[in-house]
Amino acid sequence: MSKSTQGTAVVTGASAGLGRVYADRLARRGYDLILIARRGDRLAEIAAGIQAQYGVNVSTIAADLGKEADLESVASRLEADDSITLLVNNAGVSTVAPIGGTTRAQFDAMNDVNVNGMARLTYAVLPKFIARNAGTLVNIGSILGFAHLPGATIYSGTKGYVNHFTRGLQNEVAGTKVRVQLVAPSATATDIWELSGVPLENLNQEAVMSAEDCVDAALAGLDLGETVTLPSVEDATLWKQFEELSGKLFAAAQNRRPATRYA
Ligand code: NAP
Repeated sequence: MSKSTQGTAVVTGASAGLGRVYADRLARRGYDLILIARRGDRLAEIAAGIQAQYGVNVSTIAADLGKEADLESVASRLEADDSITLLVNNAGVSTVAPIGGTTRAQFDAMNDVNVNGMARLTYAVLPKFIARNAGTLVNIGSILGFAHLPGATIYSGTKGYVNHFTRGLQNEVAGTKVRVQLVAPSATATDIWELSGVPLENLNQEAVMSAEDCVDAALAGLDLGETVTLPSVEDATLWKQFEELSGKLFAAAQNRRPATRYA
């Protein structure tokens, strides 16, 4: 018998890094889990450990969210499961290279997993959360969704989508009991760096957070009722200023005449 008190949390990309920590922390909070990633063997090992430690039910789905057939099969399964109360769209990939140095497979993987997979699984659960007036969606964006660095163009573009998509959904759930949180981490010590072509040792270690700290901060942000959580940003007023400036820019663009500098 499951000891779940919270319903079922789905975590994509749970075979490593942030997703693995999310799985642990959510089980500790009393969620049953559905863990998704390509490496089914790793998921099975993680599931067994969590089940033994916390007594919740953990099921696993080995699926490639960058492949249309796998994605549709996962999405249908989530659509049919009324026990789901939380989705963490965490699976993601990165290649650090200029566009011409990025293979077609790497290019497709970033767009397919970071954007399409995240959006499709959101579409699978969020309308039901809204109809039920309950449920929580957590999308893992990135600080690079608000910035762009050399070599991170495609990744930043995909995370810009995650950030804006998630912020937009927050407008849609305003006034309901559905929660939508955007988490925008900065550099965090996970496999993604090695996989992206940049060894973690090459980074300024003072700027690299542990995966545990990142997820614990993100969950603390959720508990605080934050809509946007920036785990490593000490000065929280910076986000407020960023939003205000963004709003001012949008308001200033509402003008039928070209700006005088273009006359
Ligand atoms: P990670 O350790 O490389 O983990 C990525 C996870 O995504 C793995 O479980 C991987 O599992 C899964 N995944 C990758 N491609 C997949 C696919 N095609 N289908 C299904 N699952 C797939 O990286 P991480 O740092 O924890 O990344 C988690 C999220 O945080 C990502 O969205 C990333 O963009 C974001 N993020 C990370 C950082 C950072 O510095 N680490 C900073 C900002 C944002 P399999 O390989 O088993 O499929």
